[in-house]
Amino acid sequence: MANLDAPDSPLGGTDEAVDGEITALNKLLDDAERIVVFTGAGISAESGIATYRGAGGMWTKYDPDKYASIEYFRKDPSYYWSFFKEERHVMMVKAVPSASHRAVADLEKQDRLSAVITQNIDGLHHKAGSTRVLELHGNTTRFYCTDCRAPYSIEDVAKIIETQLPVLCTKCKGVVRPDVVLYGEMLPTDVIDEAHRETQLCDLMIVIGSSLVVYPAANLPYQAKLSGAKLVIINIDTTPLDSVANLNIHRSAGEVFPQAVALLE
Ligand code: NAD
Ligand code: ZN
Repeated sequence: MANLDAPDSPLGGTDEAVDGEITALNKLLDDAERIVVFTGAGISAESGIATYRGAGGMWTKYDPDKYASIEYFRKDPSYYWSFFKEERHVMMVKAVPSASHRAVADLEKQDRLSAVITQNIDGLHHKAGSTRVLELHGNTTRFYCTDCRAPYSIEDVAKIIETQLPVLCTKCKGVVRPDVVLYGEMLPTDVIDEAHRETQLCDLMIVIGSSLVVYPAANLPYQAKLSGAKLVIINIDTTPLDSVANLNIHRSAGEVFPQAVALLE
């Protein structure tokens, strides 16, 4: 394991333990013919975007049950827009893909990856160069008017939030909303159908940084396993699916995943 230069894990463990996990992950990647990566907020924690749950998830000022709920959005859209202005806007515009996002894109370039299924709404897989991205929960860099459906970019809303909350449509004064799936809304059927298809066809699913508690998305890794795929879970914490995974790596993704992919070439 020369040249890996793996540091001691901040979570404990030795260089050899990290190296062993990287080797095991590399072997599973190398043996697979059809890989699907399933990502959650943890992969973007390394790009500075806070998670909802787990270490570093710190939602004290704004309540996800309010800003991420369609019921609450209809009642008081200003709550979402204040959260977006104060907590999310600059973070989303400035965030750059992490080494793990880039490694997922590398797997696609090497023709090993058939899709990345993501619960994230930050667009960082696209920014990293991935093209086969299934965004289960939409994308918070796109917006549209709830009345006339006029589209708005993040740059458009950035100008409006300077002077006005909530953001209202410049054409019809309807409320503008993010193109994301809020709590209480259905997942887009075409995306979830495609995600199920990829899940059934893959022979290896790697889950990176998902608490695996948000349904129905969290069903997919279990489905992959039931369909005969191997399952790897990379998370600094435990998840409800650890007991069925072929390999659990309890470390930050950036410590192991980019290294395991780099060894493929
Ligand atoms: P989550 O916030 O519920 O869980 C994140 C998980 O990542 C936790 O289990 C945590 O232990 C783990 N984690 C944190 N840092 C990690 C790291 N460096 N390496 C590996 N694991 C790490 O996220 P979720 O499971 O994706 O589901 C929550 C919902 O929140 C999703 O619907 C998603 O749309 C939304 N969300 C998205 C973003 C984003 O787009 N970046 C951010 C926050 C929440
Ligand atoms: Zn409108």
